Amino acid sequence: MPEMRIIFTKSDLLSYLTLMNVNSELKNDIVDGISSNSMSLRVTEHIINKIDWNNLISDPIRKQFLPMRSEYLPDHPSLKMDSLAESKSQINPGLIHRYPNKILFLITTFCPAYCSFCTRSYLVGPSTQTLKKSKNLNKSFSDSFKYLINYLNSNANINDVVISGGDVTMVKPLIIKELFDRLIKIESLKTIRLATRTLLFDPNQLLPSTSLFEVIAMYSDKFRQCNKELSIQCHFNHANEFSDLSKKASLALWHSGVVIRNQTVLLDGINSSVDTQRNLIEKLIESGIQPYYVYQMDMVANVEHFRTSLSTSINISKALTGLFPGFQLPRFIVDLPSGGGKRSVYEYEFYDKKYGVSGFKSPLLSGEKLYYYCDPLRYLDPDVEQKWNNQLFNFKEVHNENQ
Ligand SMILES: *Cc1c(COP(=O)(O)O)cnc(C)c1O
Ligand code: SF4
Repeated sequence: MPEMRIIFTKSDLLSYLTLMNVNSELKNDIVDGISSNSMSLRVTEHIINKIDWNNLISDPIRKQFLPMRSEYLPDHPSLKMDSLAESKSQINPGLIHRYPNKILFLITTFCPAYCSFCTRSYLVGPSTQTLKKSKNLNKSFSDSFKYLINYLNSNANINDVVISGGDVTMVKPLIIKELFDRLIKIESLKTIRLATRTLLFDPNQLLPSTSLFEVIAMYSDKFRQCNKELSIQCHFNHANEFSDLSKKASLALWHSGVVIRNQTVLLDGINSSVDTQRNLIEKLIESGIQPYYVYQMDMVANVEHFRTSLSTSINISKALTGLFPGFQLPRFIVDLPSGGGKRSVYEYEFYDKKYGVSGFKSPLLSGEKLYYYCDPLRYLDPDVEQKWNNQLFNFKEVHNENQ
């Protein structure tokens, strides 16, 4: 193993690919893929080590972090940058209040590595050749913490905060501790969730006796004594992402009483089969992690090759039902474009498979309003695909046809 902890420049990448005997056609494909990406290049040693370099093209980890230009597909006409319309529900930079009783706090815009399908590509990581990032979180920690705490104090109905980003592990443990010290005093707050992909990116950082582990384990106890739960929301997409270290770190957290729940994104050709999902769930369970959600890939621009149809999700979910105890069976979710919020993939009002359009309502957030999820065009008949591309398509018409 060469001495290289993180790859983040093109020349690092090129020398590494050369070292791994990757042929020049593939090398160029990857370098062009990175240049076309909305996310910055950043890959950790741990990720590199989990890639099967003999099967580079089909490798599920390579596909997530080292995209090839030849994999990209033209965007569906309905894709957007901030597909979930988070900016609309933002009440202060990085503070997103969409659901009445829970809040999302984006503490940083940085991650130890960047996933090329990131839903928050409009915000996360440095700007790239193809995408200038919105500079949304330029306030100091102290300003944003103050706003959050005041907001929680004056909205006693909020019982849950998800601390995400970016990846929460990019924030110094001392600063996380400072935030915990303030959150613990808020009577109405019951659950605090930390979102991180570091169990894959760099599990060394979450091993016992690291300062991050110590802060999390200590505050998990302190919160519990105040009848609050501190948990981790991790993000594994494939069983191959687990190393012995990932498992060691997650089990150590579990042994110290920290609840860990996993969120997966359903990615075409990466984990879009029943077997991969089943293997992943088995791996999660043996690592002390609860499978929580499997997300339909959001309708984000520049990630069309990763998306699947809604049916893919439904079919996998159906095939898994009964294989695991109910509490270990992940829920398959679609987070509705334009801010409709999360729904079960089964909750559609209609699903027109010819046009690949499903319509969902979100009674709690917006009553009768319909939100549409669109299947990728490659799942549809060519004449329908043509109709979409010529903008001869009307959501209301399809909806009425399905009444
Ligand atoms: C996903 C999300 C949450 C948390 O949702 P759960 O379904 O409870 O995990 C909270 N706020 C926002 C804005 C979200 O997108
Ligand atoms: S870890 Fe999460 S926030 Fe960071 S790039 Fe990956 S998906 Fe985006």
